[in-house]
Amino acid sequence: MEEKYILSLDIGTTTIRSFIYNSRTDIVGKAVDQVILHYPKSGFVEIDPDELWTSVVGVVKTCLQNAKLTAGQITAMGISTQRSTFITWSQSTGKPFHRFITWKDIRADDLVRQWNDSYIWKLLKLGAYVLFFVSRSKRFCAGSVLKFTNNQTTLRLYWALLNIPELKSALQKNDALFGTLDTWLLYKMTGSKIHMTDVSSASATGFFDPFTMQWSSSIMNLFNIPENILPKVVDTAGEHFTSTAKDIWGHEIPIRSVIADQTASMWGSCCFNVGDVKLTMGTGTFFNINTGSEPHASVSGLYPVVGWRLGDELIYSAEGANNDTASIIKWAQSLGLFDNPQDTAEIAMSVPDTDDVFFIPAFSGLGPPYNDCTAASGFVGMKPSTSKSHLVRAVLESLAFRTAQLYDCVRAETSYTFNTIRLDGGVSNNDFVVQLVADLTGLRVERPVQVEMSSLGCAHIVGLYLGIFSSKDELKSLRKVSTVFTPRPQVKKAYEVTIARWEDAVKRMRGWYL
Ligand code: ADP
Repeated sequence: MEEKYILSLDIGTTTIRSFIYNSRTDIVGKAVDQVILHYPKSGFVEIDPDELWTSVVGVVKTCLQNAKLTAGQITAMGISTQRSTFITWSQSTGKPFHRFITWKDIRADDLVRQWNDSYIWKLLKLGAYVLFFVSRSKRFCAGSVLKFTNNQTTLRLYWALLNIPELKSALQKNDALFGTLDTWLLYKMTGSKIHMTDVSSASATGFFDPFTMQWSSSIMNLFNIPENILPKVVDTAGEHFTSTAKDIWGHEIPIRSVIADQTASMWGSCCFNVGDVKLTMGTGTFFNINTGSEPHASVSGLYPVVGWRLGDELIYSAEGANNDTASIIKWAQSLGLFDNPQDTAEIAMSVPDTDDVFFIPAFSGLGPPYNDCTAASGFVGMKPSTSKSHLVRAVLESLAFRTAQLYDCVRAETSYTFNTIRLDGGVSNNDFVVQLVADLTGLRVERPVQVEMSSLGCAHIVGLYLGIFSSKDELKSLRKVSTVFTPRPQVKKAYEVTIARWEDAVKRMRGWYL
């Protein structure tokens, strides 16, 4: 029988990857490039669309070459992308009005705070609470505690609508389109034929109602977001994504799935059942729990997202996120604290402790349980005896501490029993961090053979959709774990004082940007 090949394209915040898998999910080709992030002003984090497009075309081309395949031999492709990053462009010329404004950008922070404190928003939440009281509907319960955050698209888009003259004038001429990164890629890849996003990416914008599964008219009215600029929201897999234009890679490639990166990674880790949990430690840290057909109504900042919709199967996920993880590693590397991220576990273990130095990883504020964009990053407690190794250890410990805090939120907010975390993402290669996560959460942590779970997840969905894989059980049987980290209760106990000191350091860094 002729072999089938699935190509996955994964656009992370740090890395662009393309993998080609065969029908046993073995990797037969691979290519990687870096995402170039631009920081034109304090708080601004942008991606240039032309640079990104050049990279995407190049990565897929190299991947095909490495696999010794042509585009015509690819059965189908799937695309997973970072979420909530967006762009707007002219429908008539295809020209963007600005660079991508990424999910890590905090330019709208003043708006976020103003709106969260505004009477109108408080009144709307009160209305939702009254409706919840009367109806007991989860939708109104979620509405009554809803908060704007910087990593949702809503207030960054509102900022763009207020501040970018070209966009304002295009809106008046009915010539503007909005898209998350997946939408824009589809638009480019199909030769401007389709303007779409899938339910998982739509649900991370903040103005998609995960309960009604439609763009939220109340949020759109509040921020004057015209409906006609928004993409059509579709199922996570299907023919509707059409094919890539022939001229890009020499042959059309059918696109059969487009999905948000975190839920793609749930697919890669086979988190198919209610209560299954995965932990991605990439640019940011993301805990995702499968909550089945019920969206999670959060009280402490776990975000209810749509995992995927495949026909009748609609799966939600409760998500807890820390914005800064590999971004901290990259920064520490750029400072010269170490040459290679692979060396950091050994460097951290070369000293017994951090010399009482603490690091607060808050380049884009602190997520749950703090939900605080006014926190500053930094080292606290440096002294003449502090060495680079102490600083590296303090950085790595802080990433594990924040992950354990997220897990505490997950536990407090849900009633599932967790035994095992399925891990992925670049930082999951770090034995020191991963063992500490296992120790502090008290959970068994499984590191897979390949840690690029978003890419694998795309291949799983595409393959299942096309019948290359017969069932989710087959996918589970193909899952390969390389290392299991078992919790050490004595280490958790030994860390109690250090964590209390670190929490105190966090307290001191909060409110810095008020
Ligand atoms: P994203 O998918 O968000 O783009 P990745 O999951 O690809 O990010 O993470 C890549 C990053 O992981 C690298 O840039 C590097 O900083 C970090 N990384 C890779 N290996 C290690 C390691 N052994 N220890 C710590 N960090 C690592």
